[in-house]
Order: sequence, then C-alpha cells, then structure tokens
Amino acid sequence: MKTVQRVASIFHHMGTSPLTTNADIAPDQIPVSQLPGVGSRRVQVLREVGIETAEDVLYHFPRRYLDRSTLVRIRDLVMHAGEVVTVVGNVDTVHTVPGRRKRLVVKLIDGSGSMELVFFQGLNYWQNSFTTGEPVAVSGEAQFYGRKASMVHPDIDRLQDGDTVEFINTGGIVPVYPSNAELEKVGLNRHGGFRRLMHLVLQRYLQDIRDWFTGEFLRAQRLIPLRDALDCIHRPPDNHLLGLARRRLVYDEFFMLSLQLAVRKRRMSTTAPGIAFRGESPTARKLVEQLPFSLTGAQKRVLREIVEDMRAEQPMNRLLQGDVGSGKTVVALLSMLVAVDNGYQCALMVPTEVLAEQHFRTITSIVDDLSVNIQLLTGQQAAGKKDPLLAAVANGDVHIVIGTHALIQAGVQFHRLGLVVIDEQHRFGVAQRAELRSKGSAPDVLVMTATPIPRTLSMTLYGDLDVSVIDELPANRKRVKTAIRFDEDRDTVYSFLRAEVEQGNQAYIVFPLVSESEKLDLKAATEEYGKLRETVFPDLRLGLLHGQMKSDEKDAVMTRFKRRDIDILVATTVIEVGVDVPDATVMVIEHAERFGLAQLHQLRGRVGRSDKQAWCILMTTKRMYFAGRGKSTDEEKTISDLRRRLDTMRDSTDGFHIAEVDMEIRGPGDLWGTQQHGYPAFRIANLLEHGAILQEAREAAFRIIDTDPQLRKEEHRGIRELLGPRIRRRLDMAEIS
Ligand code: ADP
Ligand code: MG
Repeated sequence: MKTVQRVASIFHHMGTSPLTTNADIAPDQIPVSQLPGVGSRRVQVLREVGIETAEDVLYHFPRRYLDRSTLVRIRDLVMHAGEVVTVVGNVDTVHTVPGRRKRLVVKLIDGSGSMELVFFQGLNYWQNSFTTGEPVAVSGEAQFYGRKASMVHPDIDRLQDGDTVEFINTGGIVPVYPSNAELEKVGLNRHGGFRRLMHLVLQRYLQDIRDWFTGEFLRAQRLIPLRDALDCIHRPPDNHLLGLARRRLVYDEFFMLSLQLAVRKRRMSTTAPGIAFRGESPTARKLVEQLPFSLTGAQKRVLREIVEDMRAEQPMNRLLQGDVGSGKTVVALLSMLVAVDNGYQCALMVPTEVLAEQHFRTITSIVDDLSVNIQLLTGQQAAGKKDPLLAAVANGDVHIVIGTHALIQAGVQFHRLGLVVIDEQHRFGVAQRAELRSKGSAPDVLVMTATPIPRTLSMTLYGDLDVSVIDELPANRKRVKTAIRFDEDRDTVYSFLRAEVEQGNQAYIVFPLVSESEKLDLKAATEEYGKLRETVFPDLRLGLLHGQMKSDEKDAVMTRFKRRDIDILVATTVIEVGVDVPDATVMVIEHAERFGLAQLHQLRGRVGRSDKQAWCILMTTKRMYFAGRGKSTDEEKTISDLRRRLDTMRDSTDGFHIAEVDMEIRGPGDLWGTQQHGYPAFRIANLLEHGAILQEAREAAFRIIDTDPQLRKEEHRGIRELLGPRIRRRLDMAEIS
C-alpha cells in the first residue's frame, strides 16, 4: 500500500513546477535546535559532524541498509562461506579465550543455530559493549573452522528498538546511519536514534524541499524529484526506488561539482582578455629541424591544439596528459619558444628539485640558441645568487625560468609572463596553479601530468581544463618486459644484470624509502649497496643515490651515471621523477610489494627510453606473494591487493589501465595524494561505480553554462539559487569553490 502511494507521488511530481512550496522558510533555514527533542547537547554534537539545519539532517544518508534479502540465517551460513553477509540474532554469551592470541568470543543465536563473533583487538571495549539477550545485526565474512560458523571483527549494528527486528522480518528495508561515539552518547545511534530524528524531519520538512531542476529537465535526464529521492533514501519502499533515489542524489553531487567547474572555466576565459600570440616561431621551427628524432603524430597533434589555444585571445587552460616517456617535455619546450618569439616570458614549475634540475639540463642542452635565456630557480639557491637572478626575471632578461615552488613566492616578479607550464605530477593544486598564473596578466596555462589518471578522476580534478592526450609512444620504443622474481631467484637476477652490463647497458636497483621507516629503509639500502659492491659485483662500477644526499652530491652521481661512469645505480625512490638515461635497460625493484601501482609505473618508465629492449624485475618474497587465505579479513585484503598490484605490472604497460586498477584498489580519494589538492569528498557518489552518471551530469552542467552563462533564464532559476553557499554545504571542496 505504502509503496504504491509513494510511486504515484513520484510520477505526480514529475510534472509539477520545481519551485512550488507552501513554506516561507526553507529547511536549510531551520536550525536543528528548533527540532523537537534536539537540545543543546545534541545541537553541539550534530554541529561537529556538519549537521546544522533540518536540510542537513536529510543529507545525512544511510551508510547501508538491512533487509531480508541481505540477511542469512545462521543455519544457512555454510552456503555462504567466504562471502560477506549479515546475520540478525541475540547475544547469548560473552567470554574471553586465553592463549597465544587472546580473544573475545561472543556467541550469537537466532533460533536456527549459533555462531561466534571473534575479536582480537579492543577486548575490553567489546567485552563491555554487549549485553546478554540484546538483538544485534552483524555483517562480515562468514568463516568456518570445522562446522562452527564465525565472523572476525564484524560490523555491529545494535538493534536497540525492538521494532527493527520486526520491521526487517516483515520485509522492510532498514537504514543504518553513520554514527560515532559522541552521537551515540546523545542517543543518535545508527539505528533507532537517528531514524526517529529522520522521521520527524521528513514528516515536517520534506514537503518544503524545493527542486532546482524543472520537471522537463528531470524527465530528460531520467531523474526523480529531489523530494522523493530524499524520502526514498531514508525510507526505501523497495530496492528499485532506492536505486532511483540514489541515482538522483549521485547526479546532484556530480552536477554541483560540474556546474562549479563550468562556471570557473567560463570565468577564466572571459574575465581578462588573454594574449593572442602569433603562431609563427622561427626558434621552434629551427629546433624541430635539429632534433635527433622526428615528432610523433600525437606530439604534432597536441602541439597544434596548444598553439591554436595560444593564438586565441582567451587564456589557455589546457591539460596535457601523456604516459611516461611519451615526450611531453619537448612539446612544452616548443610551446614556450612560441611565447618567447612573441616577446613573452615563460615559467615551468615542477614538484621537486631533482626534476627542476633535470628539465633545466635537458632543455638547455636541446636549445643551443644563445639568444634564449633559460634559468633555474629553486629554494636551495643561495641568496647571493638568487638576487641577480630575480632581478633578471623582473626586467625581462630571462626568457624561460624553470623551478620548483620557489617560483610562486612573493619575491618573484615577471616582466611579461605569457605562458605558464606546470609539470604537475599530481602534486600541485588549483590554488598553486592560480598563484603562478597571477604572476602575469592572464597568461596561458599548460598543465602536464605524467601519470595517466582515470577519466572519471580527471573530469573532477581537472574538469575545468581542456584536455590534450599524447596516446602514442615514440616509434622506436619496445615494450618493457616485466617479471616477478623471488628471493631464491636472486643469483639468476644478478647474472642477468651482469650480462646486460657486459653488453654495454646500465641498470637500476631501487629500494623503497617510506617516511614512517625512513631511517631503517635508508640503512637497508646503504647496507645492500655495500654488499653488492663488495661481494656481488666487485668488478663493476656501482653508485648510490638517495634523498638524504646534498643536492650537488646527487648531481655528481647522476652525471656520472649518465656519462656511463657507473654501471649499476643503487637508489631509493628519488629517481622516480628525475632521470632520463637511454642506456639504462634494467630496473630491479626490491620489495616491490611495498610500492603503490602509480609509483611502480613511474619507476618502470625510467627504463625503455630508447630502441633497446628493457626489463623490469619486481623482487618480492614467495611468502607474501603466495600467502594463503588469511586470518582476518583485513589481512587477506592486503595480501590479495599486493598480488594484484604486482600481477598488473607484469601484465600491462598501459598507464591508463594501471591507473584504473590503482583506483579500484585504493579508492579515488587516496589516489596520488589527491586529497592534498581539493579532491571533492562526495557523500554518496563514487567514481568507480558512477562514471556514466558523472558523464551525463557534466554534459548537462556545461551545456547550461554555455547557453546561459549568467543563469538568467527562468528555467535556470533553481540552478542559480543552487550556486553559492548551498553547493559549498553539500560538497566539501576546499579548493574548488
Ligand atoms: P615524458 O613524457 O615522460 O616527460 P620525456 O619528455 O622526458 O617524456 O621524453 C622521454 C624521452 O623520449 C626523452 O629522452 C626524449 O628526448 C625522447 N623523445 C621525445 N620525443 C621523441 C620522439 N618523437 N621520438 C623519439 N624520442 C623522443
Ligand atoms: Mg616529463
């Protein structure tokens, strides 16, 4: 009965005007303190989790749902061994089992049988948190030791109010809310507490929720009205409607994000007129003729796209995406020469000193034209050297400045900055991009990313940029062959290295260096270096490179490696972004299991940079690689992730594919430190699952801003109101706003 009514109401709303409401005060204007049963303690605790108004309460979405279709009777668990399932039952006994691994065992019964919930950590906490007879829902992987069913550290949902169990048993879908200790203390637990508050808010304020989309827009995009979506997400009558509700709310998040990106893009290209460069550049032309190779088709294409942008009066905001080794540097250089020939200055900003020096060396060695003044600016330069350099940048004598963050410091002033290139490596954010841009008057901006990122992620991170992709490696490249080897294969690996060196090639041996165990890692790498030099390869020339070395020491080692005075370079990850040595054909990565996929891909990109066949050998241990099904769910996950990372590297050299797998394993939020630069924290949207919705919402938002930039049309009134504080409240995006 209820379901039928709700469905009818959804289709009824489809036709109504979006802004009809009978309330004078919208739910986002109702402070939670006005809600019955919300006293000052609750107000405070709610504020801490970002809930300040009645509307905020409605946007506190369930973490998951319990319903009969996801519940398993204890007797039937045996058919679900190894799966993640939910069981509802009553606590029977709670006791600790002493032994090598002391644990707490809770016996759970449900009328069909009994099972054990096992806790190894936080024994005291868990011991005190169960009451005999209490109804709970537990979710976790069903495991069997003999015939006894158990779950290790399951998720616990307390079903304090008796009606929950009954509700589930009658086929209802019960929302489970995110909660925390503070919320629980004031009675707003995942279940009854929050559900009661939610019901109250739904009853009173749902009718006053206004849609920002028109009925026509909703129909075209196959979306249900906001009011129904908020209703169904909290009180789903069935799974179909829950799906529709979710789709609408996911769409909203992507739409809000895209709308902001569209507005920002529009603003950047219209506020200040940019520079309309002449496309002609004798210096660039001469350089192309002198290069020892001819540009790939992809390089030529992206160069045309860039120069096209530079000629237009609107400032360029372009992302240049291309896998490691695809030849972005020369593209950037040619673009800069166009600007220089037009009488403008250029800045190339990179994330590390090593990379700045590398670019500086490469570029000055390619450009032998003395009329182009190229300088390096880093944080480590002595003040005495810096002052004349800054003066030369300020009076326009310097044409191209290559540097680190030092470039965006206050003391740096340009005479006539025309083009900004940022070799991002995912480490600079929107704010830093803007800072460098502000050193000129509406200069063109080119952002380069070395690691391909999944399309969905680039649509959110770089959604305000036009995109050029170098999707072709130079023709002479051979695919790097990758193998996984174990400690017991070490001798074979070393003979292979030796054979390569004897054929005139060079090799890297890379050790992990992570900040948590930096000292130990460094010690391990240094000791291993000593051993390799003295006992394994006493007749070969070895070098050591690590981040703790002084800049000029590092430089000296790198120069020797490039000159072939070193056969095997033992290094920590500092070489990740620094090095371009065509004769290096082998890369051995020690403890490969400790590296992330993106990092492994970057490292591997350091070999295979010429027409020689190159190899990458991932060293790990059999114990870790073949580790059997684990003891706890968590442990098992890391073990299989580890193997998946290494297998992916062995089987693929496609950076985009590797990036997709990385996003699946780590989740988009963790990808390459995206958090650092304003990656939006979606509440309900997920880039892995909802790529298609993102695409639709993005297209719609950009179309709207294209046709009605000021959102003046009547049908866009709701969307206009959406911009501003409302978006900021619904989407936590520090830097996007
Ligand atoms: P990335 O895109 O990773 O920054 P680089 O710009 O460092 O790549 O280029 C990698 C190497 O390939 C460099 O040694 C560069 O000189 C060389 N290279 C660039 N373009 C070509 C080409 N079209 N043909 C052959 N080699 C090229
Ligand atoms: Mg590069």
